[in-house]
Amino acid sequence: MTARVRVTYATLSADNEDLHTSYEEGLRVAKSWLGATIPTKVAGEARTAGAAFAVTSPSDTAIRLCTAHAATPEDTDDAVRSAAAAFGRWRRTPWAERVALLRRAADLISERAPELAALMSMEVGKNRLEALGDVEESADLIRYYCDQYEAADGFTAPMDTLSPAETTSSVLRPYGPWAVISPFNFPMALAAGPAGAALVAGNPVLIKPSPQGTFTAAKLHDCLIDAGIPAGVAHLLPGGDEVGQALVEHDGVAGLTFTGSTATGALVRARFSRRFPKPVITETGGKNAAVVTASADLAVAAAGVARSAFGLSGQKCSACSRVYVQREVVDDFLAALAAEADALVVGDPTQRAVFLGPVIDAAAVARYTAAVDHAREHGRIVVGGDVLRPDEGRSRGHFVTPTVVTGLPADDPLLRDELFVPFVAVVAVDSLDEAITLANATDYGLTAGFFSGDDAEIERFLDEIEAGVVYVNRAAGATTGAWPGVQPFGGWKGSGSSGKAGGGPHYVQLYLREQSRTVVA
Ligand code: GLU
Repeated sequence: MTARVRVTYATLSADNEDLHTSYEEGLRVAKSWLGATIPTKVAGEARTAGAAFAVTSPSDTAIRLCTAHAATPEDTDDAVRSAAAAFGRWRRTPWAERVALLRRAADLISERAPELAALMSMEVGKNRLEALGDVEESADLIRYYCDQYEAADGFTAPMDTLSPAETTSSVLRPYGPWAVISPFNFPMALAAGPAGAALVAGNPVLIKPSPQGTFTAAKLHDCLIDAGIPAGVAHLLPGGDEVGQALVEHDGVAGLTFTGSTATGALVRARFSRRFPKPVITETGGKNAAVVTASADLAVAAAGVARSAFGLSGQKCSACSRVYVQREVVDDFLAALAAEADALVVGDPTQRAVFLGPVIDAAAVARYTAAVDHAREHGRIVVGGDVLRPDEGRSRGHFVTPTVVTGLPADDPLLRDELFVPFVAVVAVDSLDEAITLANATDYGLTAGFFSGDDAEIERFLDEIEAGVVYVNRAAGATTGAWPGVQPFGGWKGSGSSGKAGGGPHYVQLYLREQSRTVVA
C-alpha cells in the first residue's frame, strides 16, 4: 500500500498523482462497505425498529449503497432525553478537553478522507476533488472552531467592577441539546461544521442527515464516536422530513441548525421558536450572480463562472446561476463560457477525468428538463440542454449536460428561482449600474462574483452588492469554494438567518448564550 497523501487545501489539485492513488485505494475500501445497514444511533445503541429505506447511487440507481433505518418518534424522544441527561457532564467537561476530543475527530476524518470521499462520490455524485474537498473542509471546520475557542480562552471575559468587593465576568455558555439538520450536497461538511461548533461549545448534538446523504453522515458520526466523544452527546437520527419535524417540534431541543431550502427554513424558524425564542440558524438558498464588465479578463471570467455554475452539477447553494455581462463583450464571453462547458466531462464521478457527476434524483432531472424547455421557448440554448439516456452508456443514472442559455427577459422565472441543476443564464447589460441593480433584485443574498480590470468598478461592486460572500476576479470559482478560516460562508436576505458565517470568526458564538456574573465577596 502506498503512503496516503494528507489531504489539505494545498494538495487538492487535479495533477496530484498521490491524491488520485489514495482516492482509488479509498474507493476499494468504500466499495467493501456497500450493502451495510445504517441504524438509528441513540446513546450508542443501534436501533432498527424504524422504517427501512434504501440509499441508492445517483450514478446508477440499481446500486443500493446501504439500507438505513429511520428514527421512530420514540427514538427521537429517547435521543433528546439522553442528550439532555448528558448535557450537564458535557458542559462541565473543561473546554480544553472538549477541544482535544474534537481535534481527534478532525484528525480521524482526515485519516479516513480517501474512503469517505469515495463513498460520498458514490452516494451524492460528487467528483473526486470536490468530494475530497468536502471531507477535508469538514475536518478544517472543526479545527477552526477549536482554534476560535482557544483564542477566546473559552469565551470567559473579566468585566469592570463597581466595588472592590465584586468579581464580575461575562461567560458564554451552551444551550443544551442541539439538532443539526443537514443537506445532501455537502453531506459531511454541512453536518460536521454545525455539529463541531455545537459540540465544542458544550451542546450535545442530534444529527439528522438528508436521506440521500445518510451513509456519509453515518461515517462522520463514527468519527465523532471513535474520537471518544461520549455516545450520549452525539446521536444519529436518519430519516426524512418526519424526523426533522419531530426535532423541530420537540421542546427538549434547545437549538437547531438547518441547511436546506429557503421555504423550509422559514417554516423551521417559525415552528421552532413558537413558544419562546430559541436559537435557530438557517442556511438556505441562493440565486447567485456574477457580473462581467468590459474591462474583465474574459478567460478568467469564463473559467470562474463554469466552475461555479457546473461544480457538483449546480447543486450548491453557492452555485452561479446568473451572469450579467456588458453588452460589448457578451458574445466573446458566451463563446469562452461555451468552450469551458463543452470541455467538461460528464459521467461516473469516481473516475479521474469526470467533472460533472449525476444530479441527485429524478426530481432534479425533471427540474432541469423544465428549465431547458422554458429557455428554448423564451430565450436561446447556447450549449447543453441534454439528458443522457441509457443508450449513451450511462444507464440508470441521472446525468444531464452543463447548460448555458441567453436571451431571457430580465424578469424571467429562470433568473429568479433557484434551480439546483447545472444551468446558467447569461444576460447582456448596458452598464455596471444596470448589472448591480439586476444582481440585487432577488430575495436571496448568498454569494456573488465580479470580473473587472478597473479598481473603481471593483470598489463600487464590493460596496453595493447585497451578498454575504463576494469574490473578485477568481478563476477558481466565481461564487463557490469557500474555505474555513479563509472565506466565512453565510448569506444575507433570504439566504441565511444568522448574519454570521460558518468558518468565520463569529460563528461558534451562535451556539452560546451569555451569562453575566457578579459575585460579591
Ligand atoms: N460552502 C460551499 C461553497 O462555498 C457551498 C455550500 C452549500 O452549497 O451549501 O461553495
